[in-house]
Amino acid sequence: AHLDRIAAVDGDVHAFLHVDPEGALAAARQADEQRAAGESRSALAGVPIAVKDVVATQGQPTTAGSKMLQGWIPPYDATLVTRLRAAGLPILGKTNMDEFAMGSSTEHSAYGPSHNPWDLERTPGGSGGGSSAAVAAFEAPLAIGTDTGGSIRQPASVTGTVGAKPTYGGVSRYGLIALASSLDQAGPCTRSVLDAALLHEVIGGHDVMDSTSIDAPVPPVVDAARKADVKGLRIGVIKEISGEGFQPGVQKRFEESLQLLVDRGAEVVEVSCPTFEQGLAAYYLILPSEASSNLAKFDAMRYGLRVSPDGVDSPSAEQVMAATRDAGFGDEVKRRIILGTYALSSGYYDAYYGQAQKVRTLIARDFAAAFEKADVLVSPTAPTTAFKLGDKLDDPMAMYLNDVATIPANLAGVPGLSLPSGLADEDGLPAGFQILAPAAKDHLMYGVGAALE
Ligand code: GLN
Repeated sequence: AHLDRIAAVDGDVHAFLHVDPEGALAAARQADEQRAAGESRSALAGVPIAVKDVVATQGQPTTAGSKMLQGWIPPYDATLVTRLRAAGLPILGKTNMDEFAMGSSTEHSAYGPSHNPWDLERTPGGSGGGSSAAVAAFEAPLAIGTDTGGSIRQPASVTGTVGAKPTYGGVSRYGLIALASSLDQAGPCTRSVLDAALLHEVIGGHDVMDSTSIDAPVPPVVDAARKADVKGLRIGVIKEISGEGFQPGVQKRFEESLQLLVDRGAEVVEVSCPTFEQGLAAYYLILPSEASSNLAKFDAMRYGLRVSPDGVDSPSAEQVMAATRDAGFGDEVKRRIILGTYALSSGYYDAYYGQAQKVRTLIARDFAAAFEKADVLVSPTAPTTAFKLGDKLDDPMAMYLNDVATIPANLAGVPGLSLPSGLADEDGLPAGFQILAPAAKDHLMYGVGAALE
C-alpha cells in the first residue's frame, strides 16, 4: 500500500531519492511469515520505514543529497539500519535532504527540492524535509531523520508530524555521513509520539562502533509515551524563545498547548536562558568548522565523483581534487567549508571557533540552571509555518534564522521533540510545539508529548 502511495504522489511531493520496492516487499513478506509463526521480532516488525539519504544502507544508493556521492553504494549498513532490519522493518527507500544536511528547506538538495504535502508550493523544512514529507503524505508511516541543528524537529513542525532528537549519544552515529560530529544525532519521524518512542527504542542504545555512544540502557520512552502523565510536572517556558519574533498563529497554538498541559495537572514556570540568543551565532561557526573537516574526505580518491579539470593533459591529484570539489559541492556546502576553514585557521581560531566554544559552554550552563526550576522546557519549534519554495533561497541569514529554537538543544546535547500544536490561523498550516528534556531523560519529553495528543 505504501509503495502504491509513493507511486501515486511522490511525483508531486518528491520525498524520495530512491525507492526499493523489491527489498521492501521481501522484508515485509519475511516479517509476515515470522508473525504467522509467532516469531515477531519487535512491536514494529513489518511496519515499513523511509530512511534519510545521509544514512548508509548496504546495497542501496546513499548520496546525502549531493552530486559528490552520486552512484555511491555503501558496502555496509549504519548501525541504526542494522537494528531496523533486525527488528523486521522493511526499508522503503531513501529520502531527500539538503546537501550534506545543510539547510532548512531541502532546496539545497542536488536533486531538486521536496514539496510540503500541505501546500506543494511550500517547503517541508529541512534538512530532512524528505523524511517528514513522506510521513505527512502517508508515503511512509515511519522515517529516520538526523538532527544537527533542528533537521528532524523543524521539518516535523512545518509538516504537522512528530520528530524526536534523542540525547546526544543515544542513537549510534556509525554509518551516518557526518555533518558536525559533536552535534549530529539520528532519530524518529512519525505521526504520533508513541510511534516515535517505539522507533526510538528500536534504533537506540549502546554501540561499540561509536565512541560517543552512551553506555546505558535506552530511557523508558515507550512506557512514558503510554502513561502520558504530566501531573505535578514543572513545564518551563523559555522566555528567549517564544513571543516576539514568532508568527502570531504559531505563538497562539503554542499557548493553547501549554494550557492543555495545565489542564492535565502540570505547572507552568517561566525560565530565562539569556545565552540562547547567541546560540545561532555560535552554531554557525562550530558547524562549518566541523563540517569543513568532515567533508575533507571527499577528495575524488575515496568516494563517488571524480572530475578531470578541463584542458589539462595529465592533471595532478590536487587538480583533480579541486575540479571534483568544485563540480561536486553545491553553493551552500562551499559557503560553509570556506567559513569553517576560516574560523579554524591560525590567527582566527581564538576569535571565532574558540569564542563559539565558550558560548556553547554558557548555553549548557543555562540549560542546567533552567532544569533546576523545570522538569522539561518548551517553546514553539520554529518561528513560522512552512515558507514558500524560493523565499529564503538567496538569503542564507534568513534561512539560518529558522533554527533559532532548535539549535540550543544540539549545542548542549539534550533531547528534543516536536509535535503538532494545530494549524495557524493566518495560513491554515501546521505549527509545532517543542519539548526539551535533560540529557538521558528522553522519556520525560515523550511523556509530555503524549499528554498533548
Ligand atoms: N538548518 C540547520 C543547518 O542548516 C540544521 C541542519 C541539521 O540539523 N542537519 O545547519
